[in-house]
Amino acid sequence: MAKKNLLIIGSGDGGTILANSIDKSMYNVTLIDKSDKHVFQPQYLYIAFQGSKDTMVRDEKSLLKKGVTFVKKEVSRIDLNERKVYTTKGKPHSYDKLVVATGVTSDISMIPGMQEINSKYGDYHTNIAQAQKVWSNLNSFKGGTIVIGQSYPICKCPPSPLEGIFLAEELMHRKGLRKKTKFVFFTPYPRAYPAEGINEVIEPLLKERGIEVMPFFNIDRIDPAKKTIYSIEGDSVKYDLPIIVPPPKGMNIEYNPDSVRNDDRLVYVDKFNLKIKGFDDAFAIGDGAAVPTAKSGVDAHLEAKTVARILEGKDAKFNGRTNCPFDTGYGRGTFVIGSYDEKVIKYPVTHMNLFMKHMMAKIYWESLKGEFDSVFDIYFKETEPSRLEKKYGTGKE
Ligand SMILES: Cc1cc2nc3c(=O)[nH]c(=O)nc-3n(C[C@H](O)[C@H](O)[C@H](O)COP(=O)(O)OP(=O)(O)OC[C@H]3O[C@@H](n4cnc5c(N)ncnc54)[C@H](O)[C@@H]3O)c2cc1C
Repeated sequence: MAKKNLLIIGSGDGGTILANSIDKSMYNVTLIDKSDKHVFQPQYLYIAFQGSKDTMVRDEKSLLKKGVTFVKKEVSRIDLNERKVYTTKGKPHSYDKLVVATGVTSDISMIPGMQEINSKYGDYHTNIAQAQKVWSNLNSFKGGTIVIGQSYPICKCPPSPLEGIFLAEELMHRKGLRKKTKFVFFTPYPRAYPAEGINEVIEPLLKERGIEVMPFFNIDRIDPAKKTIYSIEGDSVKYDLPIIVPPPKGMNIEYNPDSVRNDDRLVYVDKFNLKIKGFDDAFAIGDGAAVPTAKSGVDAHLEAKTVARILEGKDAKFNGRTNCPFDTGYGRGTFVIGSYDEKVIKYPVTHMNLFMKHMMAKIYWESLKGEFDSVFDIYFKETEPSRLEKKYGTGKE
């Protein structure tokens, strides 16, 4: 049988895993990205809060298996009806099968005042330079109020806003500035962490470390002159150092039909087979897809593996499994483990869990090539939410 042309847009976590996983005897694989550098985004956290000098960036080509053609171009338009992908330069690309894995970008234009404080204080969701800005501000901080918060209900890596405040609190403690520093965490959700199971694990830690939590806080505007953040609910918080997780938005690519995307520019898909709504030959995976689960690398990984199997004609279904590592500071951590049908587990905070988080980062580059697939298969089976629920429960709800 003649080989089909598989076009993958986006060579981040999801796109790279898919390109490497797919059977090359069935597909000619072309992977397009506007950048030829692959960034391990979870490292932003450690650049911002621990001053890590290791930026964790690799050449994309060094991460690809034989048989994948990498093209460095920016995609401007995806025509799903015509099966054509247009780039800002050169001829359009045709395909038999398409996978969109373009992730999300930060959209600070949504919040009045955000532009000014984002460029002054940085953030740890956008890029390495922004994360380095956070570190330089934290490093020169001498005391006052540090406010960290989630500015939008959707968030890349849902534990990351709280990870930020836990690591900032640990940093001030280590620098001898804890008594001179007040910590405030705000969130649009009714509690510190949206899922009850993990919230019950996290709340005692926030209390123990003297971190004030402002729930139901949806940012309305920021007044940089008054150093105050206001919520639509009528609350406000004053800051000396604000570190705000920016709202994520799908990439600025034109689609035909436009109706395949929601207001956040995320692509509508079937949550089980990841096919773009109304199309049998096109899929979307990872952060840029409107899938009702966490926007995490683990999800992008599992979605890529599901789509690879479907494209190879095998039976496969994504069950929404999430497994987000969560650094709670002072050398300990937990994981946010759940799925579409299973509530998040009340998973304990241990030193071993943080070790696992760092181990996963260490083997990231090799895992993109599938070198740890058998280990991950065992890990995901042993940590299935249904198994863990018996031992740890899912909280009071
Ligand atoms: C602070 C932080 C901590 C995190 N911690 C964790 C963690 O511990 N565990 C975890 O699993 N996840 C974590 N994540 C989340 C994880 O990094 C993302 O969920 C993951 O990278 C998503 O993969 P993706 O393939 O969907 O998108 P990305 O990896 O973002 O890749 C998208 C790619 O598409 C390309 N692209 C975009 N637009 C275009 C275009 N128009 N033309 C061509 N190419 C384009 C981009 O250049 C990019 O290479 C964290 C994220 C942050 C910010």
